[in-house]
Amino acid sequence: MDAGNKNPGGAGAPKKDSQPKKKTKRVPERRCIGCGETKPKPELIRVVRSPDGEVFIDPTGKKSGRGAYICRKSTCLKRSFKSKQLGRNLNCGIPEEVLKRLSEEIADVLAAGESTK
Ligand SMILES: [Zn+2]
Repeated sequence: MDAGNKNPGGAGAPKKDSQPKKKTKRVPERRCIGCGETKPKPELIRVVRSPDGEVFIDPTGKKSGRGAYICRKSTCLKRSFKSKQLGRNLNCGIPEEVLKRLSEEIADVLAAGESTK
């Protein structure tokens, strides 16, 4: 018995694809609170809670207030709502009607983004 030999063949572990470093513009990354994936900021949608407590989609990403990022799809919005991650990130409770409005706004943003392409 040859327990302990985890590397039969002995060719050495294949290296993971390490791409040569390219000089790219650094895109800030944010984590989607729905699926937890980290993505470049432009690929996410910012949900913001304004100082007066209104929650809405912020397509420009420049509104002031507490923000959270989610993928450009309503599934992630719903997931973040269900897991209460959205409310936690915005530090407020999110009523279902707000969720509805948010998913509509996301649909709008998506439609607008596609038509300008
Ligand atoms: Zn996501």
